[in-house]
Amino acid sequence: MSKTDWIQQEMDGLKSQGLYNHIRTIGSPQGAWLTVDGKKVLNFCSNNYLGLANHPALTAAAKKAMDEMGVGPAAVRSIAGTMTLHVELEKRLAQFKGVEAAITFQSGFTANLATVPALVGKEDVIFSDRLNHASIIDGCRLSGAKIIAYEHNDVKSLEEQIKANLKDFRRALIITDGVFSMDGDIAPLPDIYAVAKKYDILLMVDDAHGEGVLGKGGRGIVDHFGLHGKVDVEVGTMSKAFGVVGGIVAGKAVIIEWLRQRGRPFLFSSAVTAPDAAACLAAVDLLKDSTQLVDKLWDNAKYFKSEMKRLGFNTGVSETPITPVMLGEAPLAQQFSRELFEAGVFAMSIGYPTVPQGKARIRVMISAAHSKDDLDKGLEAFKSVGENLGVI
Ligand SMILES: *Cc1c(COP(=O)(O)O)cnc(C)c1O
Repeated sequence: MSKTDWIQQEMDGLKSQGLYNHIRTIGSPQGAWLTVDGKKVLNFCSNNYLGLANHPALTAAAKKAMDEMGVGPAAVRSIAGTMTLHVELEKRLAQFKGVEAAITFQSGFTANLATVPALVGKEDVIFSDRLNHASIIDGCRLSGAKIIAYEHNDVKSLEEQIKANLKDFRRALIITDGVFSMDGDIAPLPDIYAVAKKYDILLMVDDAHGEGVLGKGGRGIVDHFGLHGKVDVEVGTMSKAFGVVGGIVAGKAVIIEWLRQRGRPFLFSSAVTAPDAAACLAAVDLLKDSTQLVDKLWDNAKYFKSEMKRLGFNTGVSETPITPVMLGEAPLAQQFSRELFEAGVFAMSIGYPTVPQGKARIRVMISAAHSKDDLDKGLEAFKSVGENLGVI
């Protein structure tokens, strides 16, 4: 017996349950079509909602920034790594989103790890949607606060938990995903806000899949619901619709200022590079100037979803371009994904622990980069694999 044998045994277990991650390698830029493991396939996997990951305006901005500013920031931002580009990006993001201030992080994941522990600690309580993203959960755990999960998107359950528990703690925080990434449903933010207001509790929403997708021209979930000035903290990412990398926290100036003082990933880890920041700025400019890409994304999503339903697929409860194709058991979802790949469509299966046991699915990510012809090719492949496997 070696001391790592248990790891191999665990991995063998994952493989036998159909839960082992087989990671494919992409040999082309992001777009509607990709070269994956050497094969040209239709891309239904990426979070590249607006097709910005390889957009000429973004790559040109990145190249220019690299020529003028080099690549790495060479220090954490609080010591010597804040460049004009980082400051400009934060200013423009705040304007774009209609908030008092914004701060950027290396990723959406680190934005959550920074924000939650800065706002609550051991004497406090967090009311967290049961299906919140892993990075929220990790941020909550890091904070040391008591975590109380309420039922998914269930404001009654939230209020019951608040009534039963709030008095035992110093401060509280309500946290929800904006768009739930596996089901594509949207948090009932106006109702959650009403509860937060009633009990005077800080409200934080992680809008990673709503940034660049929801609201006017992609201004996010707060704009979508017209809740400007009411949600205390809005977390977002520039790695999805924005097509680059980096996390955002937007909201009240005092909270943003506090994160510059107490957000540990800000204080102890270097920022994104100059070309990254410049590419993000170019993305903000594109979205500020036109809603065309966001409109195309939604047109594509509506078309694809209604055609999938017509074919007889169960696309769950999605209200967004995220289109889950519910299949049930993980091995079936994995086989479906493999057969789609054979048919020239790249769409990954998702199983436990990312989604609950028995709720395995193929998750289709629709993009503004898809043409109608691309979507029709995808639908054809789904139809033939679905019939072949007896799903429809
Ligand atoms: C993707 C995602 C993140 C992480 O964003 P990155 O910028 O890729 O680190 C955080 N929260 C939610 C809800 C997400 O969907």
